[in-house]
Amino acid sequence: MAREVRTRFAPSPTGDLHVGNIRTALFDWAYARHTGGKLIFRIEDTDRERVTDEYIARAIETLKWLGLEWDEGPEVGGEFGPYLQSQRLDIYTEWADTFLKNGDAYNCYCSTEELEARREAQRSANQAPGYDGKCRNLSDGEIEKYRGEGRKPVIRMRMPDGETRFNDLIRGEVVFEHKYVPDFVLMRADGSPLYTLAVAVDDVLMKVTHILRGEDLLSSTPRQIRVYQAMGVKDEDFPEFAHLPFVMGTDNTKLSKRNGEVSIAWYREEGFLPEAICNYLALLGWSPGDDRENITMKELVDLFTIERVNSSPARFDMKKLEAINGDKIRALSIEEFLKRALPYLLKEGVIKGEASEVKVVRDALPIIQERIARMKEVVPMLRFLFVEEISFDQESAAKLAESDSQKVINTAISALEPVSNWQHEAIEGALRSALIDGLGLKPRNAFGPVRIAVTGSHISPPLFESMELLGRDRSMARLKSAVR
Ligand code: GLU
Ligand code: ZN
Repeated sequence: MAREVRTRFAPSPTGDLHVGNIRTALFDWAYARHTGGKLIFRIEDTDRERVTDEYIARAIETLKWLGLEWDEGPEVGGEFGPYLQSQRLDIYTEWADTFLKNGDAYNCYCSTEELEARREAQRSANQAPGYDGKCRNLSDGEIEKYRGEGRKPVIRMRMPDGETRFNDLIRGEVVFEHKYVPDFVLMRADGSPLYTLAVAVDDVLMKVTHILRGEDLLSSTPRQIRVYQAMGVKDEDFPEFAHLPFVMGTDNTKLSKRNGEVSIAWYREEGFLPEAICNYLALLGWSPGDDRENITMKELVDLFTIERVNSSPARFDMKKLEAINGDKIRALSIEEFLKRALPYLLKEGVIKGEASEVKVVRDALPIIQERIARMKEVVPMLRFLFVEEISFDQESAAKLAESDSQKVINTAISALEPVSNWQHEAIEGALRSALIDGLGLKPRNAFGPVRIAVTGSHISPPLFESMELLGRDRSMARLKSAVR
């Protein structure tokens, strides 16, 4: 009988989660949901200097915001907890001791300087640098001597001769020759576990069946498999591995802070919707089987299989993400759009949150919904509705002061004076006939100065609708105060 699928997302949050983390989390989530299995969320925080409580809290919050809910892990608990590695240290110590006792591991007394000197010698002799097995078979006398010198040992795993072969669900059979996998450290001299030990022990104890994770971890796999073996896990009970292709930046090197925005917090601040981020990241290395670019979370769950994950690297494309985000924004109901827009307006102090302000925003949203690609754009788009007095940047002020602009403004005022039914159609009619027909101007020259006078900016929602929203009195007053 096939085992129930148990995937896990196991970040070490040493900062905000980044694009690669979330793509991994999304695929783990989608695979668990597709198969009706479970997603475990485990925090790999054995390095408590770099993984802080704050980063952990933010990681939890980010996953929730994205809608990637987990079945076991922080906050929800579960049968195999605790799910923070820093709370499982005894477990790792116990296993390391067991490995020592069984001869799978041994104490290594080499100092950092000694290791470095030997590595240097290997390099000069053109050998692959790596631990040379010096402490594999120390005599009691040697051990005593080292202890006498006050040396504290690390615990090293003994890698047998031969090779490790496993079937990666994305890249097929992978072989690691052990001559390139030297005996590795499980426990530091201070008794703290290393990643390889903790990750492997936890995957076994938490009964993980499928490890979907970044390709950068591929080379640690033979070490993890060695730990499974030392734990006495049978081959057929090993978790399966699926190493996801790298996400590349525009310069075709791995996406990083250097060549792109990586922090999900940044995307959130900019106003990328969670469903757009998930939609876009889903397509980074996976394909629904056709060329559609707009998929819902439900479709992702329905269609997600590991076979459809590509083994070659995926290129991060901000333009495509933005296009998808624009689509998702347009797909929102006005109520939903409002709910998501308000935090941006509140944060920037555009509104204080009073009911009357919210009503104005609600009325304005339909005219900008087609026009924005990031939620944050609601701020510059709608600010003009809430300021007492328009403040102009230098460029706009200079533009307004030009005599052509002044002529436009004066003509616009006269044309609008008789308009009593302050609807965008009437406003448009009056302005077109006075400025385009009357002054013979091109629309850009005709409406540009009016837009600046009324909104303070040359980016704004459509002009006539903006003036309708602003109301007759305020629109006229702004035009008049633009007269020099
Ligand atoms: N904690 C590791 C990391 O953030 C990932 C562990 C894994 O997925 O095996 O790089
Ligand atoms: Zn040694």
